[in-house]
Amino acid sequence: MTAESTPDFPASAALFERARAVSPGGVNSPVRAFRAVGGTPRFMASGTGPYLTDVDGTEYVDLVGSWGPMLLGHAHPEVIDAVQRAAAAGTSFGTPSEPEVLLAEEIVTRTPVDSVRLVSSGTEATMSAIRLARGCTGRDLVMKFAGCYHGHVDSLLVSAGSGVVTFGLPGTPGVPEASTAQTIVVPYNDTAAVEKAFAEYGDQIACVITEAAAGNMGAVPPLPGFNKFLSETCARNGALFISDEVMTGFRVSRSGHWGLDGAAEGWRPDLLTFGKVMGGGFPAAAFGGRDDLMSRLAPEGPVYQAGTLSGNPIATTAGYTTLRLATDAVYEQLDAVAGQVRTLASEALTEAGVPHVAQAAGNLFSIFFVDGTDTVTDFEQAQAQNVKQHKAFFHAMLDAGVYLPPSAFESWFVSAAHDDRAIERIAAALPAAARAAAAA
Ligand code: PMP
Repeated sequence: MTAESTPDFPASAALFERARAVSPGGVNSPVRAFRAVGGTPRFMASGTGPYLTDVDGTEYVDLVGSWGPMLLGHAHPEVIDAVQRAAAAGTSFGTPSEPEVLLAEEIVTRTPVDSVRLVSSGTEATMSAIRLARGCTGRDLVMKFAGCYHGHVDSLLVSAGSGVVTFGLPGTPGVPEASTAQTIVVPYNDTAAVEKAFAEYGDQIACVITEAAAGNMGAVPPLPGFNKFLSETCARNGALFISDEVMTGFRVSRSGHWGLDGAAEGWRPDLLTFGKVMGGGFPAAAFGGRDDLMSRLAPEGPVYQAGTLSGNPIATTAGYTTLRLATDAVYEQLDAVAGQVRTLASEALTEAGVPHVAQAAGNLFSIFFVDGTDTVTDFEQAQAQNVKQHKAFFHAMLDAGVYLPPSAFESWFVSAAHDDRAIERIAAALPAAARAAAAA
Protein backbone atom coordinates (compact mmCIF):
# COMPACT_ATOMS: atom_id res chain seq x y z
CA MET A 1 0.00 0.00 0.00
CA THR A 2 1.22 3.50 -0.71
CA ALA A 3 1.14 6.35 1.77
CA GLU A 4 -1.57 7.96 -0.37
CA SER A 5 -4.04 5.15 0.41
CA THR A 6 -3.88 6.04 4.11
CA PRO A 7 -3.61 2.61 5.72
CA ASP A 8 -2.08 3.59 9.04
CA PHE A 9 -3.33 7.04 9.88
CA PRO A 10 -7.15 7.13 9.65
CA ALA A 11 -7.49 9.86 12.26
CA SER A 12 -5.13 12.20 10.36
CA ALA A 13 -6.90 11.38 7.10
CA ALA A 14 -10.32 12.13 8.63
CA LEU A 15 -9.14 15.42 10.10
CA PHE A 16 -7.52 16.40 6.81
CA GLU A 17 -10.82 15.85 5.04
CA ARG A 18 -12.64 18.02 7.58
CA ALA A 19 -9.88 20.62 7.39
CA ARG A 20 -10.09 20.82 3.62
CA ALA A 21 -13.79 21.53 3.89
CA VAL A 22 -13.18 24.62 6.01
CA SER A 23 -9.63 25.80 5.16
CA PRO A 24 -7.88 26.29 1.80
CA GLY A 25 -5.79 23.16 1.24
CA GLY A 26 -6.70 22.00 4.73
CA VAL A 27 -3.82 23.95 6.27
CA ASN A 28 -2.91 27.34 7.66
CA SER A 29 0.55 27.49 6.07
CA PRO A 30 1.14 25.90 2.65
CA VAL A 31 4.15 23.62 3.19
CA ARG A 32 2.25 21.69 5.87
CA ALA A 33 -0.07 20.28 3.19
CA PHE A 34 2.55 17.79 1.84
CA ARG A 35 1.94 19.01 -1.73
CA ALA A 36 5.63 18.62 -2.63
CA VAL A 37 5.85 15.07 -1.31
CA GLY A 38 2.26 13.83 -1.71
CA GLY A 39 0.24 11.90 0.84
CA THR A 40 -1.67 12.89 3.92
CA PRO A 41 -0.21 15.40 6.36
CA ARG A 42 -0.02 14.04 9.89
CA PHE A 43 -2.08 15.98 12.42
CA MET A 44 -0.01 16.18 15.57
CA ALA A 45 -1.64 15.77 18.94
CA SER A 46 1.31 16.29 21.25
CA GLY A 47 5.03 16.73 21.47
CA THR A 48 7.58 15.97 24.14
CA GLY A 49 11.34 16.46 23.91
CA PRO A 50 12.48 15.34 20.43
CA TYR A 51 9.22 13.49 19.68
CA LEU A 52 5.86 14.30 18.11
CA THR A 53 2.82 12.04 18.41
CA ASP A 54 0.07 12.21 15.81
CA VAL A 55 -3.67 11.78 16.34
CA ASP A 56 -3.38 8.08 15.42
CA GLY A 57 -0.89 7.54 18.23
CA THR A 58 2.24 7.18 16.07
CA GLU A 59 5.40 8.72 17.51
CA TYR A 60 7.98 10.46 15.30
CA VAL A 61 11.47 11.79 15.94
CA ASP A 62 10.94 15.42 14.97
CA LEU A 63 13.49 17.06 12.66
CA VAL A 64 11.32 20.08 11.88
CA GLY A 65 10.95 21.58 15.36
CA SER A 66 7.94 23.70 14.35
CA TRP A 67 10.24 25.14 11.62
CA GLY A 68 12.77 26.40 14.11
CA PRO A 69 11.28 27.57 17.39
CA MET A 70 11.62 24.37 19.43
CA LEU A 71 15.26 24.82 20.45
CA LEU A 72 14.78 22.96 23.73
CA GLY A 73 12.46 20.29 22.32
CA HIS A 74 8.70 20.08 22.80
CA ALA A 75 6.94 20.88 26.07
CA HIS A 76 10.05 21.70 28.08
CA PRO A 77 8.79 21.47 31.68
CA GLU A 78 10.18 24.85 32.78
CA VAL A 79 8.74 26.65 29.74
CA ILE A 80 5.36 24.98 30.23
CA ASP A 81 5.35 25.88 33.91
CA ALA A 82 6.20 29.54 33.19
CA VAL A 83 3.55 29.71 30.47
CA GLN A 84 0.87 28.20 32.70
CA ARG A 85 1.59 30.73 35.41
CA ALA A 86 1.58 33.59 32.88
CA ALA A 87 -1.73 32.41 31.40
CA ALA A 88 -3.35 32.21 34.83
CA ALA A 89 -2.38 35.85 35.39
CA GLY A 90 -4.23 37.01 32.27
CA THR A 91 -3.67 36.52 28.57
CA SER A 92 -3.37 40.04 27.16
CA PHE A 93 -3.50 43.51 28.65
CA GLY A 94 -2.82 45.96 25.81
CA THR A 95 -0.48 47.78 28.19
CA PRO A 96 3.23 47.39 28.81
CA SER A 97 4.11 44.43 31.05
CA GLU A 98 7.23 43.01 32.67
CA PRO A 99 7.74 39.88 30.50
CA GLU A 100 8.27 42.00 27.38
CA VAL A 101 11.01 43.96 29.16
CA LEU A 102 12.65 40.70 30.25
CA LEU A 103 12.59 39.36 26.69
CA ALA A 104 13.89 42.61 25.16
CA GLU A 105 16.72 42.71 27.74
CA GLU A 106 17.67 39.13 26.86
CA ILE A 107 17.75 39.98 23.13
CA VAL A 108 19.75 43.18 23.62
CA THR A 109 22.26 41.32 25.81
CA ARG A 110 22.84 38.56 23.26
CA THR A 111 22.83 40.40 19.95
CA PRO A 112 24.29 43.61 18.46
CA VAL A 113 20.99 45.54 18.68
CA ASP A 114 20.69 48.57 20.95
CA SER A 115 16.93 48.18 21.24
CA VAL A 116 14.08 46.08 19.86
CA ARG A 117 10.42 46.40 18.97
CA LEU A 118 8.45 43.21 19.56
CA VAL A 119 5.94 41.97 16.98
CA SER A 120 4.06 38.69 16.46
CA SER A 121 5.61 37.08 13.35
CA GLY A 122 8.77 37.07 11.30
CA THR A 123 6.81 38.55 8.41
CA GLU A 124 5.86 41.55 10.52
CA ALA A 125 9.45 41.93 11.66
CA THR A 126 10.93 42.13 8.16
CA MET A 127 8.06 44.26 6.84
CA SER A 128 8.56 46.75 9.68
CA ALA A 129 12.36 46.75 9.38
CA ILE A 130 12.03 47.64 5.70
CA ARG A 131 9.58 50.42 6.44
CA LEU A 132 11.98 51.79 9.02
CA ALA A 133 14.93 51.55 6.58
CA ARG A 134 12.93 53.43 3.95
CA GLY A 135 11.76 55.96 6.51
CA CYS A 136 15.29 56.59 7.78
CA THR A 137 16.99 56.84 4.37
CA GLY A 138 14.21 58.51 2.38
CA ARG A 139 14.91 55.95 -0.36
CA ASP A 140 12.56 53.32 -1.82
CA LEU A 141 14.54 50.45 -3.35
CA VAL A 142 15.17 47.21 -1.49
CA MET A 143 17.76 44.60 -2.51
CA LYS A 144 17.15 40.94 -1.71
CA PHE A 145 18.68 37.63 -2.74
CA ALA A 146 17.04 34.96 -4.86
CA GLY A 147 16.12 32.00 -2.69
CA CYS A 148 16.08 33.98 0.55
CA TYR A 149 12.67 34.06 2.22
CA HIS A 150 11.68 36.83 4.58
CA GLY A 151 8.01 36.04 5.13
CA HIS A 152 5.08 36.89 2.88
CA VAL A 153 5.77 40.62 2.64
CA ASP A 154 4.52 41.93 -0.75
CA SER A 155 7.78 43.52 -1.82
CA LEU A 156 9.85 40.52 -0.73
CA LEU A 157 7.78 37.75 -2.29
CA VAL A 158 9.87 37.85 -5.44
CA SER A 159 11.94 34.80 -6.46
CA ALA A 160 11.43 33.77 -2.84
CA GLY A 161 12.19 30.34 -1.40
CA SER A 162 10.23 28.26 1.12
CA GLY A 163 6.64 27.46 0.07
CA VAL A 164 6.83 29.49 -3.11
CA VAL A 165 9.60 27.31 -4.47
CA THR A 166 7.95 24.19 -3.31
CA PHE A 167 5.04 24.93 -5.61
CA GLY A 168 7.33 26.05 -8.40
CA LEU A 169 5.68 29.49 -8.68
CA PRO A 170 7.68 32.50 -9.86
CA GLY A 171 5.98 34.84 -7.38
CA THR A 172 2.35 35.16 -6.43
CA PRO A 173 -0.77 36.77 -7.83
CA GLY A 174 -2.01 39.48 -5.54
CA VAL A 175 1.25 41.37 -5.24
CA PRO A 176 1.02 44.61 -7.22
CA GLU A 177 3.78 45.21 -9.75
CA ALA A 178 4.29 48.56 -8.05
CA SER A 179 5.56 46.67 -4.96
CA THR A 180 7.97 44.37 -6.74
CA ALA A 181 9.20 47.17 -8.98
CA GLN A 182 10.86 48.53 -5.85
CA THR A 183 12.73 45.27 -5.21
CA ILE A 184 16.06 44.35 -6.79
CA VAL A 185 16.71 40.58 -6.72
CA VAL A 186 20.27 39.29 -7.05
CA PRO A 187 21.80 35.82 -6.77
CA TYR A 188 22.91 34.83 -3.28
CA ASN A 189 26.64 34.95 -2.52
CA ASP A 190 27.28 36.97 -5.68
CA THR A 191 29.37 40.02 -4.74
CA ALA A 192 29.74 41.15 -8.36
CA ALA A 193 25.95 41.25 -8.78
CA VAL A 194 25.60 43.31 -5.61
CA GLU A 195 28.25 45.75 -6.82
CA LYS A 196 26.59 46.02 -10.21
CA ALA A 197 23.22 46.80 -8.61
CA PHE A 198 24.79 49.47 -6.41
CA ALA A 199 26.65 50.95 -9.38
CA GLU A 200 23.36 51.35 -11.20
CA TYR A 201 20.94 52.26 -8.40
CA GLY A 202 23.18 53.08 -5.43
CA ASP A 203 21.63 56.39 -4.44
CA GLN A 204 18.11 54.92 -4.50
CA ILE A 205 18.74 51.79 -2.42
CA ALA A 206 17.28 52.05 1.08
CA CYS A 207 18.51 48.67 2.28
CA VAL A 208 19.88 45.25 1.52
CA ILE A 209 18.07 42.43 3.32
CA THR A 210 19.59 38.97 3.54
CA GLU A 211 19.09 35.86 5.61
CA ALA A 212 22.11 35.82 7.94
CA ALA A 213 22.65 32.35 6.51
CA ALA A 214 20.15 31.19 3.92
CA GLY A 215 17.94 28.46 5.34
CA ASN A 216 14.89 28.68 3.11
CA MET A 217 16.35 27.08 -0.03
CA GLY A 218 17.92 24.38 2.11
CA ALA A 219 20.91 25.47 4.20
CA VAL A 220 23.23 27.66 2.15
CA PRO A 221 25.81 29.46 4.26
CA PRO A 222 27.16 32.83 3.21
CA LEU A 223 30.59 32.46 1.59
CA PRO A 224 33.33 33.65 3.97
CA GLY A 225 33.23 37.43 4.16
CA PHE A 226 29.95 37.79 2.23
CA ASN A 227 27.94 39.35 5.06
CA LYS A 228 30.85 41.65 5.95
CA PHE A 229 31.00 42.72 2.31
CA LEU A 230 27.27 43.51 2.39
CA SER A 231 27.65 45.51 5.58
CA GLU A 232 30.55 47.54 4.15
CA THR A 233 28.95 48.02 0.74
CA CYS A 234 25.76 49.33 2.34
CA ALA A 235 27.69 51.72 4.56
CA ARG A 236 29.67 53.04 1.58
CA ASN A 237 26.46 53.72 -0.34
CA GLY A 238 24.33 55.20 2.42
CA ALA A 239 22.06 52.12 2.47
CA LEU A 240 21.13 50.11 5.55
CA PHE A 241 22.08 46.47 6.04
CA ILE A 242 19.25 44.31 7.42
CA SER A 243 20.27 40.86 8.60
CA ASP A 244 17.26 38.56 8.86
CA GLU A 245 17.95 36.23 11.79
CA VAL A 246 14.38 34.96 12.13
CA MET A 247 15.65 31.42 11.51
CA THR A 248 19.26 31.63 12.71
CA GLY A 249 18.71 33.92 15.71
CA PHE A 250 19.34 32.25 19.08
CA ARG A 251 19.71 28.96 17.20
CA VAL A 252 23.10 28.75 15.50
CA SER A 253 24.74 30.40 18.53
CA ARG A 254 23.57 32.33 21.58
CA SER A 255 24.02 35.47 19.44
CA GLY A 256 22.64 33.94 16.27
CA HIS A 257 24.62 33.91 13.03
CA TRP A 258 26.15 37.29 13.86
CA GLY A 259 27.85 35.42 16.72
CA LEU A 260 29.55 33.24 14.08
CA ASP A 261 30.72 35.99 11.71
CA GLY A 262 30.11 39.66 12.60
CA ALA A 263 31.19 39.36 16.23
CA ALA A 264 34.62 38.04 15.20
CA GLU A 265 34.98 40.17 12.07
CA GLY A 266 34.09 43.43 13.83
CA TRP A 267 30.94 44.59 12.01
CA ARG A 268 27.27 44.71 12.89
CA PRO A 269 24.11 45.00 10.81
CA ASP A 270 22.19 48.27 11.01
CA LEU A 271 18.95 46.39 11.65
CA LEU A 272 18.21 42.76 12.54
CA THR A 273 15.04 40.72 12.56
CA PHE A 274 14.27 37.82 14.91
CA GLY A 275 11.47 35.30 15.40
CA LYS A 276 11.02 31.54 15.95
CA VAL A 277 13.28 30.60 18.94
CA MET A 278 12.66 33.92 20.73
CA GLY A 279 8.96 33.07 21.04
CA GLY A 280 9.52 29.63 22.57
CA GLY A 281 6.75 28.21 20.36
CA PHE A 282 4.41 31.20 20.70
CA PRO A 283 3.87 34.02 18.19
CA ALA A 284 6.65 36.46 19.02
CA ALA A 285 9.20 38.14 16.77
CA ALA A 286 11.21 41.35 16.79
CA PHE A 287 13.22 43.85 14.84
CA GLY A 288 15.97 45.92 16.31
CA GLY A 289 19.20 47.75 15.66
CA ARG A 290 21.10 50.97 16.15
CA ASP A 291 19.54 53.46 18.56
CA ASP A 292 19.59 56.32 16.07
CA LEU A 293 17.48 54.20 13.69
CA MET A 294 15.15 52.63 16.25
CA SER A 295 14.41 56.07 17.72
CA ARG A 296 12.79 57.02 14.40
CA LEU A 297 10.00 54.59 15.26
CA ALA A 298 6.66 55.76 16.72
CA PRO A 299 6.07 57.00 19.39
CA GLU A 300 9.61 58.48 19.54
CA GLY A 301 9.83 59.19 15.83
CA PRO A 302 7.63 59.49 12.74
CA VAL A 303 7.79 55.93 11.32
CA TYR A 304 4.55 54.20 12.30
CA GLN A 305 4.36 50.61 13.50
CA ALA A 306 2.03 48.95 16.04
CA GLY A 307 0.36 45.70 17.15
CA THR A 308 -2.57 44.71 19.41
CA LEU A 309 -0.82 41.55 20.60
CA SER A 310 2.78 42.78 20.28
CA GLY A 311 4.73 41.79 23.40
CA ASN A 312 1.93 39.46 24.51
CA PRO A 313 2.65 38.36 28.10
CA ILE A 314 2.39 34.62 27.44
CA ALA A 315 4.48 34.70 24.27
CA THR A 316 7.16 36.86 25.85
CA THR A 317 7.22 34.66 28.96
CA ALA A 318 7.74 31.58 26.78
CA GLY A 319 10.43 33.48 24.89
CA TYR A 320 12.53 34.74 27.76
CA THR A 321 12.20 31.44 29.63
CA THR A 322 13.45 29.61 26.53
CA LEU A 323 16.35 32.02 26.04
CA ARG A 324 17.38 31.80 29.69
CA LEU A 325 17.49 28.02 29.38
CA ALA A 326 19.54 28.26 26.16
CA THR A 327 22.93 28.06 27.81
CA ASP A 328 26.31 27.35 26.20
CA ALA A 329 25.75 23.66 26.98
CA VAL A 330 22.53 23.74 24.95
CA TYR A 331 24.36 25.16 21.93
CA GLU A 332 27.12 22.54 22.28
CA GLN A 333 24.47 19.83 22.31
CA LEU A 334 22.70 21.32 19.27
CA ASP A 335 25.95 21.55 17.30
CA ALA A 336 26.88 17.97 18.20
CA VAL A 337 23.47 16.51 17.33
CA ALA A 338 23.24 18.47 14.08
CA GLY A 339 26.69 17.23 13.03
CA GLN A 340 25.78 13.66 13.93
CA VAL A 341 22.46 13.60 12.07
CA ARG A 342 23.94 15.31 9.01
CA THR A 343 26.83 12.84 8.88
CA LEU A 344 24.59 9.82 9.39
CA ALA A 345 22.25 10.94 6.59
CA SER A 346 25.13 11.66 4.25
CA GLU A 347 26.82 8.31 4.96
CA ALA A 348 23.59 6.40 4.32
CA LEU A 349 23.04 8.21 1.00
CA THR A 350 26.65 7.64 -0.06
CA GLU A 351 26.34 3.95 0.83
CA ALA A 352 23.20 3.73 -1.34
CA GLY A 353 24.91 5.57 -4.18
CA VAL A 354 22.68 8.66 -4.06
CA PRO A 355 24.45 11.83 -5.23
CA HIS A 356 23.92 14.63 -2.71
CA VAL A 357 25.42 17.54 -0.83
CA ALA A 358 25.09 17.60 2.98
CA GLN A 359 25.59 21.20 3.94
CA ALA A 360 25.48 23.30 7.11
CA ALA A 361 25.44 26.86 8.37
CA GLY A 362 26.29 26.34 12.01
CA ASN A 363 23.79 23.81 13.34
CA LEU A 364 21.34 24.60 10.54
CA PHE A 365 21.72 21.95 7.86
CA SER A 366 20.06 20.16 4.99
CA ILE A 367 20.61 17.53 2.34
CA PHE A 368 20.53 18.61 -1.31
CA PHE A 369 19.73 15.85 -3.77
CA VAL A 370 22.06 17.31 -6.41
CA ASP A 371 24.63 15.68 -8.65
CA GLY A 372 27.96 16.91 -9.97
CA THR A 373 28.81 19.43 -7.26
CA ASP A 374 30.11 19.25 -3.70
CA THR A 375 28.68 22.57 -2.61
CA VAL A 376 25.50 24.60 -3.14
CA THR A 377 26.02 28.36 -2.99
CA ASP A 378 22.91 29.82 -4.60
CA PHE A 379 19.29 29.27 -5.52
CA GLU A 380 19.99 28.08 -9.06
CA GLN A 381 22.07 25.21 -7.72
CA ALA A 382 19.52 24.44 -5.00
CA GLN A 383 16.78 24.23 -7.62
CA ALA A 384 18.71 21.62 -9.60
CA GLN A 385 17.68 19.04 -6.99
CA ASN A 386 16.18 15.68 -7.83
CA VAL A 387 12.93 16.20 -5.93
CA LYS A 388 11.76 12.66 -6.73
CA GLN A 389 14.61 11.29 -4.66
CA HIS A 390 13.72 13.66 -1.83
CA LYS A 391 10.10 12.53 -1.97
CA ALA A 392 11.01 8.83 -1.73
CA PHE A 393 13.49 9.55 1.06
CA PHE A 394 10.97 11.66 2.97
CA HIS A 395 8.22 9.01 2.87
CA ALA A 396 10.54 6.17 3.85
CA MET A 397 11.71 8.19 6.85
CA LEU A 398 8.12 9.10 7.76
CA ASP A 399 7.04 5.46 7.56
CA ALA A 400 9.94 4.61 9.88
CA GLY A 401 8.88 7.27 12.39
CA VAL A 402 11.14 10.21 11.52
CA TYR A 403 9.49 13.51 10.64
CA LEU A 404 11.56 15.47 8.09
CA PRO A 405 10.65 18.75 6.38
CA PRO A 406 8.12 17.84 3.66
CA SER A 407 10.07 19.80 1.03
CA ALA A 408 13.54 19.49 -0.48
CA PHE A 409 14.04 23.23 0.01
CA GLU A 410 13.90 23.40 3.78
CA SER A 411 16.50 23.10 6.51
CA TRP A 412 16.39 20.36 9.11
CA PHE A 413 16.10 21.43 12.75
CA VAL A 414 17.35 19.56 15.79
CA SER A 415 16.80 20.41 19.45
CA ALA A 416 18.84 20.08 22.60
CA ALA A 417 16.43 17.28 23.60
CA HIS A 418 17.60 15.03 20.76
CA ASP A 419 19.35 12.35 22.79
CA ASP A 420 21.06 9.06 21.91
CA ARG A 421 17.76 7.20 21.69
CA ALA A 422 16.35 9.71 19.19
CA ILE A 423 19.54 9.60 17.14
CA GLU A 424 19.55 5.81 17.13
CA ARG A 425 16.04 5.84 15.72
CA ILE A 426 17.13 8.22 12.96
CA ALA A 427 20.20 6.06 12.25
CA ALA A 428 18.05 2.93 12.04
CA ALA A 429 15.65 4.56 9.55
CA LEU A 430 18.27 6.00 7.20
CA PRO A 431 19.62 3.01 5.22
CA ALA A 432 16.21 1.95 3.86
CA ALA A 433 15.28 5.58 3.12
CA ALA A 434 18.54 6.06 1.24
CA ARG A 435 17.83 2.90 -0.78
CA ALA A 436 14.32 4.22 -1.53
CA ALA A 437 15.89 7.46 -2.81
CA ALA A 438 18.32 5.45 -4.94
CA ALA A 439 15.42 3.55 -6.50
CA ALA A 440 13.35 6.70 -7.20
N1 PMP B 1 12.51 35.35 7.73
C1 PMP B 1 13.04 34.12 7.72
C2 PMP B 1 14.52 33.98 7.52
C3 PMP B 1 12.25 32.98 7.91
O1 PMP B 1 12.82 31.78 7.89
C4 PMP B 1 10.86 33.16 8.10
C5 PMP B 1 9.94 31.96 8.30
N2 PMP B 1 10.34 30.77 7.80
C6 PMP B 1 10.35 34.45 8.10
C7 PMP B 1 11.19 35.53 7.93
C8 PMP B 1 8.87 34.70 8.30
O2 PMP B 1 8.51 34.38 9.59
P1 PMP B 1 6.97 34.04 9.95
O3 PMP B 1 6.66 32.74 9.30
O4 PMP B 1 6.96 33.99 11.44
O5 PMP B 1 6.15 35.17 9.41
